[in-house]
Amino acid sequence: MRLTQYFLPTMKETPSEAQIVSHRYMLRAGMIRQASAGIYSWLPLGHRVLKKIEQIVREEQDATGAQEILMPTIQSADLWRQSGRYEDYGKEMLRITDRHERDMLYGPTNEEQVTEIAAAYIKSYRQLPKNLYHIQWKFRDEVRPRFGIMRGREFLMKDAYSFDIDAESGRRAYNKMFVAYLRTFARMELKAIPMRADTGPIGGDMSHEFIILADTGESAVFCHRDFLERDVLALDVDYESDLQPIVDEWTGLYAATDEMHDPAQFEREVPAESRVSDRGIEVGHIFFFGEKYSKPFGAIVPTPEGGETTMQMGSYGIGVSRLVGAIIEASHDDKGIIWPEAVAPFKVGLINLRSGDDDCDAACDDIYDKLNAAGVEVLYDDRPERAGSKFADMDLIGLPWQLVVGPRGLKNGVVELKSRRTGETEELPVAVALERLGG
Ligand code: ATP
Ligand code: MG
Repeated sequence: MRLTQYFLPTMKETPSEAQIVSHRYMLRAGMIRQASAGIYSWLPLGHRVLKKIEQIVREEQDATGAQEILMPTIQSADLWRQSGRYEDYGKEMLRITDRHERDMLYGPTNEEQVTEIAAAYIKSYRQLPKNLYHIQWKFRDEVRPRFGIMRGREFLMKDAYSFDIDAESGRRAYNKMFVAYLRTFARMELKAIPMRADTGPIGGDMSHEFIILADTGESAVFCHRDFLERDVLALDVDYESDLQPIVDEWTGLYAATDEMHDPAQFEREVPAESRVSDRGIEVGHIFFFGEKYSKPFGAIVPTPEGGETTMQMGSYGIGVSRLVGAIIEASHDDKGIIWPEAVAPFKVGLINLRSGDDDCDAACDDIYDKLNAAGVEVLYDDRPERAGSKFADMDLIGLPWQLVVGPRGLKNGVVELKSRRTGETEELPVAVALERLGG
C-alpha cells in the first residue's frame, strides 16, 4: 500500500478525551473513529489489526474441532424469556421493538440463541460432543463506556458453546478451550494468565478469566511470577489427548483477581520474591455451567443406555476488539505502538527519505514491487514530507520493520533496516535487506 493513497488519518496532538495509552495511540494512528459513546468505526489500519486478531482466534478454535457459525446480532426477546434472563439482564441490554410491536434485542451474548439451535438439531448422543462458535458484534449498554474500544458498548466477541453428554465430557470440552486460549494469546505475544473466577450459583471450579497484566487494567490481580516465564507455544498440543495435565499445571499456581483474592493463601503459597500484585485486563472468560440453558430449552438427547439426558454446556468468550487495545497496552513506548509481528497491520514500513528524487523513487518502487510479489505486507511512505515526520508517523503506527531508503545510502548500494521493537538499525545491501524481510 502506498501511503499517498492510503486512508490513514494520523494526528500529532494527543486527543484530550483519551485517558489510557491504547486509546490515545489508536486515535492518533487513525485506527478508529468514535461514532457515539462506546461505539466506533474501524478505519483501514485498525481494521487490518482487528482482522488479524480475529483470524488467530479462529485458527485456534478450529484446531480444537470447534465449528464456526454466524448467529444474528438481533435476537427475539422470547428466547430470553425462556431462559429467564430477559428481566435479569437489566439496563445493559439494548431492547428494540419492531414494526409489529414485537420485542427484540441486540444480543449481549448468545447462550439462548445457540441452545435453541442445539435443541432443534441434536437428537442423538452420537452427535455429541459439539462446539459451535461465532465471531460477532455484541452490544452491552455499559454504564461507563471508556478506554476506547477496551470497554465499548458495541464490541466484537468470539463466543463458543460446547454441548456434551455428561459432565466428564464437558470437562474435556472445557480443557480444550482452556489450552486453546493459552495458545491464542501467546500467538499475540501476550502473557495471559488464567485466574479462577466466580462461578456464581452453579459452583465448582470451572470458570477462568484470562487476564493480561497492565498498569491500566480495571481490576487488581495477584499471581505467581512463574506464570510470566512460561512458553506455551513450546508445548506440543494434541486436542485428542488428555489435556488435564496441562490445565493442572496452569491452575496449580496462585492467580486471582481481587474478587477471588485470599491474602493469607497468597502469602502461604507464594514466596515473597515471586508475588506479583498488579492490575489486569480481562481478554477472555471460560465457563462451564451444565444444564443452566439446556434445561429450559429442552436440549435433551437419548443416552446409549436407553434413557435420556440434558446436555451439559459451557461457554467461552474472547474479547476480539478489546484485544487490539490490550496488545497496545502491553506493547508500546513513548513514540507509539510496537506491534507483535503476528497482528501487525503491515510487516514493513518502507520510508523514502527523498520522494521526488529519481534514484530514491526508483529504488523504492523496486523494493515495493518485490516485497509485494513475495507476499510481504508493506506500507510505502511515498509522501513528499520531511524525513522527521515520516519517522514519527512510522514509529507511531508501530510496524515491526522500517526500511529506510535515502540518497546517501543508495550511493553505496545500501539501505537501513530498523527493528521497531529494539530500535536496532543495520545498513544492508538492498538484496540482503529484502531477503531478511522474506522478499
Ligand atoms: P467485564 O468484566 O470486562 O465487563 P464480562 O465479564 O462482562 O467483562 P464476558 O461476558 O465474560 O465479559 O465476555 C467475554 C469477553 O468479552 C470478556 O472477557 C472481554 O474480553 C470482552 N468484553 C466484555 N465486555 C466488553 C466491553 N464492554 N467492551 C469490549 N470487550 C468486552
Ligand atoms: Mg467475564
